[in-house]
Amino acid sequence: MNFSDAEIVIVGAGIAGYAAAIAAAKENKKVLLVEKSDAIGGNATNSNAGTVCGAYYRTFSETPRLAGYHFSTDFINKLLPFSDNKKAINYHNGLFIIPYEWSFLQENLEQELLENGVLVMKSTEVIRVKRNKKQITNLFIKTNNQIIEISPQIIIDCSGNGIIAQLAGLEMISSANYQSASQIFRVQQVMSDNEFSLNMSLKKAMLSLIHSSGLPKSFLSLSVVPGSLKKNQADFKITLPEIITDDKEVNFKLNIKAKTYVEEIFPSLTNMVGSLKTATIATIFPQLGIRILQRSMGKYVLTETDILSCKKFSNGIAVGTWPIEEWNNDGKLTMEYFAPDAGYMIPSDCLLSYELENLFFAGKNISASTKAIASARVMGTCLQTGYAAGKLASCSSLESRENMITLLNRELVSNE
Ligand SMILES: Cc1cc2nc3c(=O)[nH]c(=O)nc-3n(C[C@H](O)[C@H](O)[C@H](O)COP(=O)(O)OP(=O)(O)OC[C@H]3O[C@@H](n4cnc5c(N)ncnc54)[C@H](O)[C@@H]3O)c2cc1C
Repeated sequence: MNFSDAEIVIVGAGIAGYAAAIAAAKENKKVLLVEKSDAIGGNATNSNAGTVCGAYYRTFSETPRLAGYHFSTDFINKLLPFSDNKKAINYHNGLFIIPYEWSFLQENLEQELLENGVLVMKSTEVIRVKRNKKQITNLFIKTNNQIIEISPQIIIDCSGNGIIAQLAGLEMISSANYQSASQIFRVQQVMSDNEFSLNMSLKKAMLSLIHSSGLPKSFLSLSVVPGSLKKNQADFKITLPEIITDDKEVNFKLNIKAKTYVEEIFPSLTNMVGSLKTATIATIFPQLGIRILQRSMGKYVLTETDILSCKKFSNGIAVGTWPIEEWNNDGKLTMEYFAPDAGYMIPSDCLLSYELENLFFAGKNISASTKAIASARVMGTCLQTGYAAGKLASCSSLESRENMITLLNRELVSNE
């Protein structure tokens, strides 16, 4: 397939873009997936989020129950045998998560895209769009220093920040600022096999450094990504004190500053934490982990109330099971829970542009309030919204789309 033949273009190859591409390809569509960076996976691999959240219902029973489609369950079942524990780990307060190795995930996403005939263009960025009253008519993509114009029938925006709606001048869902960002880095020669005691030592060292050297309070958040301590290496996550806004230039500079922060504090850690005495930094993951940015406005905006009341919609096309999770600028984490063994539904209208007929959304770019996306942004949920967007975008008429919504909803309800 040539890129100009694409019927559906998916913007952003994060976990949502991957799911959307596979779903559309399985409906025999010609799919082009464009990704601005040089790698597949978005936050999941380039920031190394490190664990899949939101794949299971929160529960206090021994065995957690998977939520969502067969597609998302299959994804998890493929991942599990390769995670160290071979099963989900009980992280906190009935929440189950699956640690994964970023390189394994990246290879598998890429392989599956290839096997399903999806054309993937990396280092390729959508920079401009042309539209009429009802549709996006053309996309301008920059690749190899060339600008190419294409005119797909459908666009699924999985960019994580509603880039297509922004470029089309549509109304966005935004806030003056968002929850804080974190930088993840891998450390080797860690002389500990106990995550809890390593976390305690990190806290103690950071507390002392914050008092003695005036480091920002948010650095007290420094901790091991759950399940990542193995074979004398671990992934560490640190929250930055900076305010996150939609300003692209500021965020670009912050991505660089985050690496400097890590390089500056690490020598003190090796002096203060016994098990890090000979430790070195193996990798500072390339993409700063910005959790939330602006989103596209859909036909419905998912709210905090929908989430906390576990609202069901007859056009529900994804099940959210993760609480509202927010990190503030002091590195403090707040979780707002809903009932255990329950989930809320995301209606299909959160995936459809309020104005343009051929524009769909998925992942952390769905139409949701800033509070609501703090729950729906986790990978278990992004997989489902991505899958649903791919399916809906493949329908040739409004009637077949309605039928598809019914089918998707039935599958979710029968798996509840
Ligand atoms: C620090 C941190 C820790 C996290 N921890 C967890 C966790 O433990 N478990 C969990 O489940 N979730 C976690 N998350 C959330 C989760 O990783 C993300 O919300 C999820 O992966 C988002 O997927 P996505 O596909 O919607 O977007 P993204 O992963 O952001 O992917 C969007 C992609 O679009 C590309 N793009 C953007 N603009 C353009 C353009 N103009 N043209 C082409 N491509 C473009 C980007 O380069 C990117 O690759 C974490 C997030 C952060 C930041």
